[in-house]
Amino acid sequence: MFDKNLECYINGEFLIPQGNKTVDCIDPSSEKVYAKLQLGNDKDVNRAVDAAKNAFKKYQYSSRESRIEFLERLSENYKERFDDLVDAIILELGCPEELARDSQIAAGLEHIQTALDVLKNYDFEKVYNNSKIKKVPVGVCGIITPWNWPVSVFMTKFLPAVCTGCTLVWKPSESSPLTSHVLAEIIDASSLPDGVFNMVYGAGDVVGELISLHKDIQMVSFTGSKTAGVSVQKNGAETIKRVIQELGGKSPNIVLPSAHIESAVKNCIKSVMTNSGQTCSAPTRLIVENSKMDIVKKTVLDMENEITVGNPRSGAFIGPVVNKSQFKRVQEYIKSGIKEGANAVIGGEGKPDPMEDGYYVKPTVFMNTTPDMKIVKEEIFGPVLVVQGYDTLAEAIELAVDTDYGLAAYIQGADRDEMECVADAIPAGQIYFNNADSDPALPFGGFKQSGNGREWGETGFDEYLEYKALVGYYI
Ligand code: NAD
Repeated sequence: MFDKNLECYINGEFLIPQGNKTVDCIDPSSEKVYAKLQLGNDKDVNRAVDAAKNAFKKYQYSSRESRIEFLERLSENYKERFDDLVDAIILELGCPEELARDSQIAAGLEHIQTALDVLKNYDFEKVYNNSKIKKVPVGVCGIITPWNWPVSVFMTKFLPAVCTGCTLVWKPSESSPLTSHVLAEIIDASSLPDGVFNMVYGAGDVVGELISLHKDIQMVSFTGSKTAGVSVQKNGAETIKRVIQELGGKSPNIVLPSAHIESAVKNCIKSVMTNSGQTCSAPTRLIVENSKMDIVKKTVLDMENEITVGNPRSGAFIGPVVNKSQFKRVQEYIKSGIKEGANAVIGGEGKPDPMEDGYYVKPTVFMNTTPDMKIVKEEIFGPVLVVQGYDTLAEAIELAVDTDYGLAAYIQGADRDEMECVADAIPAGQIYFNNADSDPALPFGGFKQSGNGREWGETGFDEYLEYKALVGYYI
């Protein structure tokens, strides 16, 4: 069992939540209970919001220099606790050690460095004719986050909030309580004024709803599923909140005829399976020429032995999915794909041999799909790739845009102009050329039902600011 109490953090203190409900935290790699999480209630939320509201009175005027100094302390303390964060994410998500270290936890540091760079140069005011335009913090923010990239998603909300002078109440996911706890300790050690940052554990339909409804919260930044996002938007409407939504995806990966087909397929499989397929922007629909399906099939079969599944400390490429309900959900999708007539070239239903305990899923690639299949239309959020075929470029684009989502898209090819024409035809927030690495300074967010916000870098700061016009200031 994890040997620490998972307490809330309110007004600069770690406190036992007032709620009387407790949930078991289960290690997805063994199905063993590693901690008991006591959930917060309305009293905890109200105390946290009061603290944030009170702290905002002063913090909104804090200097750029003091915020820079905080980020520098945060960066040092984060580096000191790096290994604790790695251990936490391995235990709570079953995340393979290498991915935990080099991606999940390393990403937090990259976001801190990016925020520092942006903060040093960000223009909080400008002159227009005889007037001054100021960008001022929006106020008390609620931030609600998922479990799949728990540190990175938190950082892309927390950092712009504190850099712009906002105060906040954070509700982490119930499935990632350990990384949240270590993050709260790191922030506590970095000396932010009391009440600027508060954290309340709790269920989405209790603490999440209370945050969305609270009259003293001016903005909610939400990342998660569409269902919960719609609920936040509806509840926030009562108090005219700004609601930033970062939701799911079903991102296309178009392999143009000029691309090297084998490497495009291999890279796509690795990219989808990473983090057990639990990444919102993963390229989960591979769109390739019908005339090359034989090469695609052979490459998929060749990859079967590379996408190993196992305990997070075993060196396997993927670990389990996060919990039992996610395991069942992915199994249902695999079953439905087979029932609807798709061909599972690798993978399929059930756990991979020899795994018995733990929520392990077979990495699965479906070919012979049609656009109306559930596995093609809906976000599965597991290690499952679907392959779609095209004859003409127009058909490839039609398949790519035939989705309710618009988070990311991927294009593989050899001609940049042609790739740009394809990119121009796809409504998606990030379009990756030839598997380029993501960059934390670039805008990240979705079109259509993938959301309405833009996080990361400078655009992330804009979300937490209101414009104020000082009319005639220079007359
Ligand atoms: P989820 O919607 O179940 O939970 C996300 C958060 O919302 C959790 O903290 C949860 O407790 C809370 N919540 C649930 N119901 C709520 C309600 N009614 N009111 C307020 N809060 C509520 O999502 P999840 O399973 O944690 O994460 C997976 C989803 O997140 C996927 O759809 C994935 O695509 C999406 N996601 C999107 C991005 C992005 O940047 N666009 C990044 C990561 C994950």
